[in-house]
Amino acid sequence: MALAYDGAIQRLIDAFASLPGIGPKGAQRIAFYMLSASDEEAQQLIDAITEVKQKVRFCDICGNVCETSPCPVCVDPRRDHSVICVVEEPKDVMSIERTREYRGLYHVLGGAINPMANVGPADLNIPKLLDRLKTDEVKEVILALDPNIEGEATTTYLSRLLGPLGIKVTKLASGLPVGSDLEYADEITLGRALAGRREA
Ligand SMILES: [Zn+2]
Repeated sequence: MALAYDGAIQRLIDAFASLPGIGPKGAQRIAFYMLSASDEEAQQLIDAITEVKQKVRFCDICGNVCETSPCPVCVDPRRDHSVICVVEEPKDVMSIERTREYRGLYHVLGGAINPMANVGPADLNIPKLLDRLKTDEVKEVILALDPNIEGEATTTYLSRLLGPLGIKVTKLASGLPVGSDLEYADEITLGRALAGRREA
């Protein structure tokens, strides 16, 4: 039987390994790094996690992460309240913001339709999007989902759902790296996809 660490160090390795994007080797490396780090450095990490869990929440309107709800974007009068850009995750909001091509509002779904992972429309933040479309203020919904199978499925679902509402529904122009995540597209490419959006 292979030798395994036990006790606290293995629990820390397991905790890091359970995080997205960190494999077993990376988890082991971080765990041993934390072991040799100063108490102060370790405490900073603990405090940062504690603070995020205590302060950060999801905006009641758009579903983005924020410290006050509604979030600053939803209540910003300088933004264009007639356009809502629908994205999968909060990090996608940052990707769109970095393009500097967009001044409207956002709606974060909290994922994408993925039958393989048992994620259906009911698991996404769609009812609140429909609520937001009940006012006449919104003229366009931009579907900015990831350029992969799940993103495509979600785009198709939402365009069928929103089409009958009489609101212009657009999606990003093609040109983004297929099969990937919005966050991996550079600002210029994503900015172009946004500017060149077409009817969904
Ligand atoms: Zn918001």
